[in-house]
Amino acid sequence: MGRVVAELVSSLLGLWLLLCSCGCPEGAELRAPPDKIAIIGAGIGGTSAAYYLRQKFGKDVKIDLFEREEVGGRLATMMVQGQEYEAGGSVIHPLNLHMKRFVKDLGLSAVQASGGLLGIYNGETLVFEESNWFIINVIKLVWRYGFQSLRMHMWVEDVLDKFMRIYRYQSHDYAFSSVEKLLHALGGDDFLGMLNRTLLETLQKAGFSEKFLNEMIAPVMRVNYGQSTDINAFVGAVSLSCSDSGLWAVEGGNKLVCSGLLQASKSNLISGSVMYIEEKTKTKYTVLGLCPL
Ligand SMILES: Cc1cc2nc3c(=O)[nH]c(=O)nc-3n(C[C@H](O)[C@H](O)[C@H](O)COP(=O)(O)OP(=O)(O)OC[C@H]3O[C@@H](n4cnc5c(N)ncnc54)[C@H](O)[C@@H]3O)c2cc1C
Repeated sequence: MGRVVAELVSSLLGLWLLLCSCGCPEGAELRAPPDKIAIIGAGIGGTSAAYYLRQKFGKDVKIDLFEREEVGGRLATMMVQGQEYEAGGSVIHPLNLHMKRFVKDLGLSAVQASGGLLGIYNGETLVFEESNWFIINVIKLVWRYGFQSLRMHMWVEDVLDKFMRIYRYQSHDYAFSSVEKLLHALGGDDFLGMLNRTLLETLQKAGFSEKFLNEMIAPVMRVNYGQSTDINAFVGAVSLSCSDSGLWAVEGGNKLVCSGLLQASKSNLISGSVMYIEEKTKTKYTVLGLCPL
């Protein structure tokens, strides 16, 4: 179970944990730049790793990127009646500094994610209807839930604050050998513990009322992930951060970042499925068993 959750968290954070997938093991020092680097997967994790590794090691290193499907991975789009729509990672959080930088470096444009007014229906009646007026919303929320909305905002901010520490580690080229070690470094035992608790347990412990959890938090989980508050607490926090303002997307599709990074990194894209890899020495591997498409 712990492993499954760690994998899920690892995927959800794919837009954030860009360098962790390409870092060397803790404590290991690379004495000379490698001659060849193989990266498996041309999603945002793989293509950004290629981009940063090219900057780190210069033009002489050969970078091979293996991809069995499409460049972009889960930043996929799909065509519906001649129109292209985001079908995977569709909105980017304003605190995703890597994506901000990529869009700037690659000369792409950002568009603000638009959303209509929110209404929450409990099956019988609308328990909350958002207004165009900020002050009206504040009054409505305080009237129905006291200061729980404000406290929730602060709870999410606290998770994000801890998460932002990742940029400091990355600016010092520090990487982690597991998601658990990374999360522990970012926020200690309690932060790591979110991997093993449900969102409901965590928010109940933090003192949020049943009414607020049922009427406000459960719908956010349902809308974002088709889940309930029994979702993993860390995943739930990521989902709640998506109700922040300032969410944006890349004009023409978020996957343009992946193809742009691939091109800018001057990596060789190799189409095929990697079947296994073999460890040669502690820091050297051979990619084997490529199944061409
Ligand atoms: C429906 C949906 C909605 C989402 N919404 C958001 C959102 O709004 N905002 C947000 O920030 N995030 C969102 N996410 C999460 C985000 O899309 C992912 O975290 C991110 O795209 C993962 O990037 P990645 O590079 O880690 O993995 P992936 O994008 O999965 O890339 C991995 C790539 O590796 C390839 N691969 C795997 N194994 C092999 C192999 N053996 N050989 C060759 N190639 C291989 C795969 O084909 C794939 O292309 C969403 C995800 C989904 C599915």
